[in-house]
Amino acid sequence: MSALSPVLKQATQVLAVRGEGSHLYDESGRAHLDFTAGIGVTSTGHCHPRVVAAAQEQVGKLVHGQYTTVLHQPLLTLTERLGEVLPAGLDSLFYVNSGSEAVEAAMRLAKQATGRPNIVAFQGGFHGRTMAAASMTTSATKFRSGYGPLMPGVALAPFPNAFHYGWDEQTATRFALRELDQLLASVTAPADTAAFIVEPVLGEGGYVPANTAFLQGLRERADRHGILLILDEVQTGFGRTGKFWGHDHFGGRPDIVVTAKGLASGFPLSAIAAPQALMAKSWPGSQGGTYGGNAVACAAAIATLDVIQGEKLVENAATRGAELFSGLREVAAAHPAGEGRRGVGDVRGLGLMAGTEFTDADGEPDGATAAAVHAAAGERGLLLLTCGTQGQVVRMIPPLVVTEGEVAEGLRLWRESVDAVLGG
Ligand code: PMP
Repeated sequence: MSALSPVLKQATQVLAVRGEGSHLYDESGRAHLDFTAGIGVTSTGHCHPRVVAAAQEQVGKLVHGQYTTVLHQPLLTLTERLGEVLPAGLDSLFYVNSGSEAVEAAMRLAKQATGRPNIVAFQGGFHGRTMAAASMTTSATKFRSGYGPLMPGVALAPFPNAFHYGWDEQTATRFALRELDQLLASVTAPADTAAFIVEPVLGEGGYVPANTAFLQGLRERADRHGILLILDEVQTGFGRTGKFWGHDHFGGRPDIVVTAKGLASGFPLSAIAAPQALMAKSWPGSQGGTYGGNAVACAAAIATLDVIQGEKLVENAATRGAELFSGLREVAAAHPAGEGRRGVGDVRGLGLMAGTEFTDADGEPDGATAAAVHAAAGERGLLLLTCGTQGQVVRMIPPLVVTEGEVAEGLRLWRESVDAVLGG
């Protein structure tokens, strides 16, 4: 008899037999409101009929062809379609299977193109679990510890995490950019630095949005020093934040965009996008793998774009996100942390990426309270995730198809759960 790894069992909240839109259904037929969907199937929700139909049709025609010998129409069509939504100038795409792999591809491209060995990543960032991606990840030690040494050549700079520092955004941003300049002056010289890699909103690191001054500051330093700017849009891309790309809120034109999750509605597909001239600096054979650009996943991705555009899901993310944040702020106001009381310290995020940070009686990150609220919500049929360095943030990342009624229901269950833990 074999069994699932205990690691998987621990993490699992529900044995799902069916998914539809914002809901998962377990064996007993009970519905769970899936406000974690954005981390897996993302935009179009569970089993969107157009995505299902496109994948089913493609399975019967051609499942896959390895890109070194076989091109297929879904790959070409998807590439054309992505050209319409990608930032101007990023006109070349390369496909792999997961966010981590795409991060690795971006890193490899940056090193090959510049001939420089080092990468600057930002405190609290998450870029994946493969060795290089984990080496650039500092959202929690659980992603890095126990199998070192990690990849050398990663230098870390602060992210403008204003709540964490207890500063306003402007002060946090000035500090972060000054420390970056200091890093380039004392740790990794520009001539040794291939790229900055950053998320427009820290995801696993606690739902902390970047800001315009910070991303423009990175762009300006990248231009000055010939360093490439890699934006990891794996969690923020495809409408999640209420604009198509997370960085659309801030500017900071990227040289390379990394995308995954929202791309193919749960099918394993990821991509990097860069200008042709830059992409050409990776040599053939040094990137990719057996399943990159799988035909069924590409067909699902094309249908995903159809649904995002046809159903105006980016706009829906902005509207539903505003409703969600207004409800979360009401609950936060009823349970303020401070004056020796644990409670909600902060509500943060963008669009349908919404985090509530809990702090303890001393104002410190309170992972235990966050875990209790997370569990209380799960018992009530509201699936959520935690994030943050100490697991102190509970996040909501519903599918972009979420309705007004589902947001209201999610907020009702959230209020009940927070009241149950903190006293209503
Ligand atoms: N980058 C970011 C910003 C992510 O949120 C994630 C996944 N949570 C990854 C990279 C890694 O993606 P994957 O799990 O598909 O390897």
